[in-house]
Amino acid sequence: MSNESLLKKEFKQSDVQRARNLVNKDFTAKTKLQTGYKKSLGYHKEGDIWEESGKTWTIKNGIKQNISKLQKARELKKTPLFCPECNTIMNHRYDKEFYNINKRCFNCQTVFETKLKISGEWEEYQKQIHNSEIDNTIQNYEMWVDDLINNSNDGFISETGELENWSKANTSNIVKQKEEAIKYLENLKKK
Ligand SMILES: [Zn+2]
Repeated sequence: MSNESLLKKEFKQSDVQRARNLVNKDFTAKTKLQTGYKKSLGYHKEGDIWEESGKTWTIKNGIKQNISKLQKARELKKTPLFCPECNTIMNHRYDKEFYNINKRCFNCQTVFETKLKISGEWEEYQKQIHNSEIDNTIQNYEMWVDDLINNSNDGFISETGELENWSKANTSNIVKQKEEAIKYLENLKKK
């Protein structure tokens, strides 16, 4: 596995969950005070697929998601047959993984990284990857929170996977937590 994907994994597991928890924790605390308004919409767990409000939903990575959205994301992730940089067929066992991250084949990436190491730009490159990964995470995170708020009538999936109702009264609190979480993520950037 390349350094970038290791970095990505490490970053995803701890920090994204922490950012999510900031919002979820606040929400869970609020729902406890409003159990009288809690709508029972059933129980769904990771990988379940169900119909609701005319749309098809699933839970992926603990988040309730619209299926068509996921399909679009999957299409964007498709690996082409040939490397866009050297035009050779990508059939090395690491090509797919490397293409997903670097948009070039394993061999091209190795050559690219070696050049950077020789020219002394490796550190800067690593920093850029790290920071752009954080930018992507912030973007996804904002979409996730906005989705929670906008789908308030549909309810949301708590960390345990339970579908719960969402009160609009919580929105301003959630927005505040969102801003804090983004600040936290921004601080993880390399200067
Ligand atoms: Zn290539």
